[in-house]
Amino acid sequence: MSQTRAITQINGDLYRYQHNAHYSVFLVTPEGIVVTDPISKEAATWLNQELSKRFDVPVTHLIYSHDHADHISGGEIFGEDVKVIGHELTKEAIIRENREIPVPQITFKERYTLELGGNKVELYYPGKSHGDNCIAMMFPKQRTVFVVDFITVDRLPYRNLGSGHMPDWINAIKFVEELDFDILAPGHGGLGTKADATNHRKYFEALRDAVAEGISQGQNLEVMQGSISLEAFKNFGNYEEWLPMNIEGMYNMLTQ
Ligand SMILES: [Zn+2]
Repeated sequence: MSQTRAITQINGDLYRYQHNAHYSVFLVTPEGIVVTDPISKEAATWLNQELSKRFDVPVTHLIYSHDHADHISGGEIFGEDVKVIGHELTKEAIIRENREIPVPQITFKERYTLELGGNKVELYYPGKSHGDNCIAMMFPKQRTVFVVDFITVDRLPYRNLGSGHMPDWINAIKFVEELDFDILAPGHGGLGTKADATNHRKYFEALRDAVAEGISQGQNLEVMQGSISLEAFKNFGNYEEWLPMNIEGMYNMLTQ
């Protein structure tokens, strides 16, 4: 299978790397490189080779965005000396599922700031959203926030919204909107701005309102899937394919 891989500069010493449909970021400082989601063993092996070709500092830190294996597998590639950082619930999930990936040595509940080589990475827990342990990673000097799976740019949220939580998810997006950044780097799809976070939240609010209205009128899921359209967002990617699944996900969140 052919792979789509790329490393692109976001702003200053902050870069984005792509492995097929997955994206992460890394920050190069004079004291070491901070890598975020390693994605997979294959992706991390490639990234590690690229980093050693391009930069003369080692990878010193690895930060997990949330517990999902399609984003945080493969961190062992960076060696045993790398400090791994994640939310306390991310660590719990990795241990509970006996996963053979590095377990975070540094965890936090609400907020953690990593300082390295004249840079800061501020980690925030915005509450439950897509799952219960997604965090926002702020790179203040680079005016960028990295968020995975709970905000995307000009694209519908993924399929049936997985193990999402409402209204927490909307509140988590509002939390990110309050952060001081210009560039939004999501774990899937293109880069955006703060306005894209706001748009994503407005999509969720419109979806919630439409499904709540259907429920209040006694409609079942199939009826809603056949009748709800969110015209303002029809230019979002995957609109036709995923809207019925998004309706199902929202229905489940509002009725369970
Ligand atoms: Zn996920």
